[in-house]
Amino acid sequence: MFQSPGSKLRAAGVVLLTLAIFAVDAFTALDIAIAVLYVVVVLCATSVWSRRGVLLTGVACAALTVGAFALTHHGVVSSPMARCLVSVAAIAITTVLALAGMAATDALRQRSESLRLSEAFLASTQRISRTSSFRFQAPGGAMHWSEEAARIYGVGLEVTPTQALVRERTHPDDWPLLDDVIAQSDRGEATIELRHRLRMPDGTVKHVHMIARLAAVHDGQFEYLGALMDVSAAHEAAETLHRTQAELAHATRVTTLGELAASIAHEVNQPLAAVSTNGNACLRWLNRPEPDLLEARLALDRILADTYRASEVIQRIRALARKGEAQRLPLDVNTLLRDTAALVQRELSNHRIVLELNLAPGLPPVAGDAVQLQQVVINLLMNAMQAIDGAAPEWLRRQQRIVLSTRLDGDQVEIEVADSGPGLSELQAGRLFEAFYTTKADGMGMGLAICRSIVEAHGGSIRAMVHAGPGATLAFTLPCAAVKVEDTSNAVTGAPA
Ligand code: ADP
Repeated sequence: MFQSPGSKLRAAGVVLLTLAIFAVDAFTALDIAIAVLYVVVVLCATSVWSRRGVLLTGVACAALTVGAFALTHHGVVSSPMARCLVSVAAIAITTVLALAGMAATDALRQRSESLRLSEAFLASTQRISRTSSFRFQAPGGAMHWSEEAARIYGVGLEVTPTQALVRERTHPDDWPLLDDVIAQSDRGEATIELRHRLRMPDGTVKHVHMIARLAAVHDGQFEYLGALMDVSAAHEAAETLHRTQAELAHATRVTTLGELAASIAHEVNQPLAAVSTNGNACLRWLNRPEPDLLEARLALDRILADTYRASEVIQRIRALARKGEAQRLPLDVNTLLRDTAALVQRELSNHRIVLELNLAPGLPPVAGDAVQLQQVVINLLMNAMQAIDGAAPEWLRRQQRIVLSTRLDGDQVEIEVADSGPGLSELQAGRLFEAFYTTKADGMGMGLAICRSIVEAHGGSIRAMVHAGPGATLAFTLPCAAVKVEDTSNAVTGAPA
């Protein structure tokens, strides 16, 4: 019944006040409405008891007023009776008002408690989902954000967010993107969105995704409400996936080589062993005091037969490797290149290399195996990227580019990969496609050899061009297919990848 433990003292005070009023009312001859003072008792009771207690207090006060009247006025006296009624009415009205006030206070307390709970709930879900909310006015107006936004930006909760602070935390490379969305919000665009990086004071980088919608417009000011998500974990996962895809594509050539080498070793080993045995026998026949030329000739015949067998085995394996299960379907080269560019895009942007697509529209289809041809293009792109990387460390060089272009050359489609790396010498260009030729510490020197074998199996040719100035250009041609395929390429000439 008591609202708080400390209110016991106040309760005693209220009781004493009640008794005092009753004593004065009942036992003194004062000709005034003393009982009206019970109103004070009722009001004091609101801070001591609950609503039920206040109601009982009101009832008790009214009863005491009537009791005191009965004690002091045995006959019917109109004026004291009127005073008694006024006092009872005042007590009743005060009690009702006090009860209504208490009910309103309780409702308000409940509402503020549920507001506090929902704020705590929102803060914890924002923390778990790493998503914060914010509000800002454009152009250049005030900004408010949730606790989680302060945490994402790595500033204290007491720090007032400003555009300058947002800019300071944004990775300098992404300032143009930020300026772009600020300009959009200054124009009052309905939705603004930005994926960018934040650079923390300790040098770590966070990837964030911001999206905001125009909520209101007053006095030429646009008010935006938005969400800011820390997507670093998702970004990291996507990076790993893309890295794995690129590595997988790169590893395919190693696997192909491994399988090829194992089968060659297996098939060729037998005739080679026979050649060696017959060679030794031939030497022995010739080294005799009286050389047996007939036997030596027979041994040499067997050597020739085994050599022929070995070369046949190799021919067969090469034929197998060329034809294999490779498909020959009509392909749109531009689509194939766009798909391939998408595969290596992340790897390229990690090395701050821009891939420019310069694709001739309306190319006829080529007949080929999409996977194999994609492997060729990935190889050329990876080589170009490694050449650029090897020339200077990433932090020293300006942004570099690789241009991937297509053109029609008679009845052939030519695909060209030109980079801004250190280029090729005449000597290098001559040896590039030799198996096991590499200038890289961890290179195998088989990538371009396999590329050549795939391109030639498609009836095309591959070459490296030596030109003045930096950069290397490798190009390959593929004959156009007889069948016409729907050309999905459009005028993307010059469009960045
Ligand atoms: P690997 O990449 O394992 O070395 P490759 O056959 O793919 O094998 O390449 C052979 C060599 O050709 C490379 O080691 C490199 O010296 C040279 N090369 C290939 N592409 C380029 C290029 N775009 N710029 C400069 N050199 C290149």
